[in-house]
Amino acid sequence: MSEIDLHSHSTRSDGLLRPSELVGRAARRGVRVLALTDHDETGGLAEARASADEAGITLVNGVEISVTWNGQTVHVVGLGIDPGHPELAGGLAQIRCGRRGRAERIASDLESAGVKGSLAGAQAHVTNPDLVGRTHFARFLVERGHARNVQGVFRKFLTAGKPGYVAHQWAALEQATGWIRASGGLAVLAHPGRYWLDEQERCSLLAAFKEAGGAAVEVVTGSHTPDQFQSYAGYARRFGLLASAGSDFHGQGEGRRDLGDLPELPAGCTPVWSQF
Ligand code: AMP
Ligand code: MN
Ligand code: MN
Ligand code: MN
Repeated sequence: MSEIDLHSHSTRSDGLLRPSELVGRAARRGVRVLALTDHDETGGLAEARASADEAGITLVNGVEISVTWNGQTVHVVGLGIDPGHPELAGGLAQIRCGRRGRAERIASDLESAGVKGSLAGAQAHVTNPDLVGRTHFARFLVERGHARNVQGVFRKFLTAGKPGYVAHQWAALEQATGWIRASGGLAVLAHPGRYWLDEQERCSLLAAFKEAGGAAVEVVTGSHTPDQFQSYAGYARRFGLLASAGSDFHGQGEGRRDLGDLPELPAGCTPVWSQF
């Protein structure tokens, strides 16, 4: 267990708990410093902050920005951002706009694969009308019996080469790090072990991220295996990046780790929270 969890989602994006419920759960589980990092959206932070003040825990203003780098989707977490900063707010609003058309394309691709009614089906799981994502489609596909759980859906659908996957242009890496920095935050490369990259591409991503003003890389995350905790601790040192830790909690029964369910950073890492 860790008292620090710097990656989590609420109903403002694709999490299952309201911001206040998420903070309550974190506090009950012994988390003292929590970052709410909804996808492309900061609208949950005010409610989360009010609950954090009540519960006596520290809320870090966060966001997880969708980025296209080298034709691949990667995620950049911003920590300690100012959600009211116009450059950041405008950039995020633009990304959210693109999600609607993408959802229509996902639905029509699923339709071609024989899955009917997925747009309405996904919408029934959407908790923020501005933020429809693959998780909402995944929950619909579980409901229809196409897989036992959300992770199972992503093995058969919604990822490259599978039904329901559509290419999409998100923000550029330099835009995401630029908006985060302009608003006073630190940019963190999220769950790098999840991307389909060979060693050379992985190193170019880390170098490009550092060059773009990135501050840290997630070393301990619900998306990494214990082996990857060690290897990304090595990459952090090699590329002069701080190390972050977060569960990427979306809700009970989804994902590997609950809030605060995180081992310590491997030795030799400088934690990103040393900068808070
Ligand atoms: P989107 O931003 O709409 O592309 O959706 C991305 C979200 O889908 C991630 O934040 C996760 O919540 C979910 N997701 C992606 N890949 C997986 C996976 N392999 N297993 C479980 N959830 C996944
Ligand atoms: Mn998500
Ligand atoms: Mn992510
Ligand atoms: Mn996430």
